[in-house]
Amino acid sequence: MKREKSEALFEKAQTYFPGGVNSPVRAFRSVGGTPLFIEKGDGCRIWDADGNEFIDFCGSWGPLILGHNHPAVRERIIAAVNKGTSFGAPTALENELAELILSNNRFIEKIRFVSSGTEAVMSALRLARGFTGKPVILKFEGCYHGHVDSMLVKAGSGLSTFGISSSAGIPESVSNDTIVLPLNDRRAVEIAISDYAHDIACIIIEPVAANNGLLLQDKSYLEFLRKICTQNNILLIFDEVISGFRLGFEGAAGHYNIQPDIITYGKIIGGGMPVGAYGARKEIMSHISPEGNVYQAGTLSGNPVAMSAGIAQLHECLKPGFYEMLEKKTKYFLNEITANCKLQTVNCKLFSLGSIFWFAFTDKEKIQSSSDIDPESMNRFKLFYKELLERGIYLGPSGYEVGFVSSAHSENDLKIAAEKIGEALSKVI
Ligand SMILES: *Cc1c(COP(=O)(O)O)cnc(C)c1O
Repeated sequence: MKREKSEALFEKAQTYFPGGVNSPVRAFRSVGGTPLFIEKGDGCRIWDADGNEFIDFCGSWGPLILGHNHPAVRERIIAAVNKGTSFGAPTALENELAELILSNNRFIEKIRFVSSGTEAVMSALRLARGFTGKPVILKFEGCYHGHVDSMLVKAGSGLSTFGISSSAGIPESVSNDTIVLPLNDRRAVEIAISDYAHDIACIIIEPVAANNGLLLQDKSYLEFLRKICTQNNILLIFDEVISGFRLGFEGAAGHYNIQPDIITYGKIIGGGMPVGAYGARKEIMSHISPEGNVYQAGTLSGNPVAMSAGIAQLHECLKPGFYEMLEKKTKYFLNEITANCKLQTVNCKLFSLGSIFWFAFTDKEKIQSSSDIDPESMNRFKLFYKELLERGIYLGPSGYEVGFVSSAHSENDLKIAAEKIGEALSKVI
């Protein structure tokens, strides 16, 4: 596999950007080697600067549920650009995307558009604090919520203690208002709430935790969180930046039929453009400025080009049978992989939900919290990853990242990919 052009570009990039990238995992540090510089994408395939072709299961980390360069999305973006790129004034496109979402989602009544998932989470946390008048946020280890200060906090020692920051530049005064607990541990939640219910504004969770492997929670655990929040005047926030519009149009809330108080979105909602959003029932959303006193704003919020991409993409998602088709493709793909390789012989398990999948090198039957993941297993992923690239298969460059099937993956593409994956796995002994 040729890498010369990517290598030269990366060398240049290192003189411009810290670590040569504008977002850390792109630097390939956990899989080794230089990152591939991507030149173009079409359907389920991408091509790098050296002309290597890959079947892509990263999908820009989740947003591209229709694959790359989908004609409907592209045309809608071009039509919008032809009319100017930004006005900082309301446009009908914002209404159109909001209408599309709100009339097809039973779990939120009003929405506010922002420009990233991080911004959506940051705003949702402020709203929860403003609405409840309480300062503390409870989160779970193994859930990623963007690079918000109060979310870059890991568990302190012992249950029901406040967290310590996992990044430099975050003062104790911030991490002191975040409690971090292990996932899938009801007792830990009960203890924290009995100690601090009067201070806790919200519990935030990725209902389908998909940023630290795929830590699938039991529905009853999510129901337990719903119940304990209601009983204690604590808001439940579902961070659906990955699961929203992925597990179904109503995301994890719809999949599990659980009503959170606030939901955050990102990734798919923008059709490959920078969009995030948060939504809730009217009573909660009325606390956002200018209606209420929780301030939140954005120069490029509701940007017409980004809204257009979102409208085009979500229109496709709303077509009858879209999610059933996606799930069928994913099942087919995973079955083909297991047919091509006896996973147990290489100590690998495939976890999945909807069109999300994750390769875990483990003996365990279930992986539901981050401590269930053996860091040593990432060395095996590294070997696997190298074999995959050589065979034209692209995944997110870290064993903690999940993969995504898009509607652009045909049965034939998936069959080919499954064969290559089988070969690659057999090398990881
Ligand atoms: C990606 C992600 C974010 C952050 O979104 P950005 O657009 O990268 O800021 C937040 N929460 C979850 C669950 C995510 O997957």
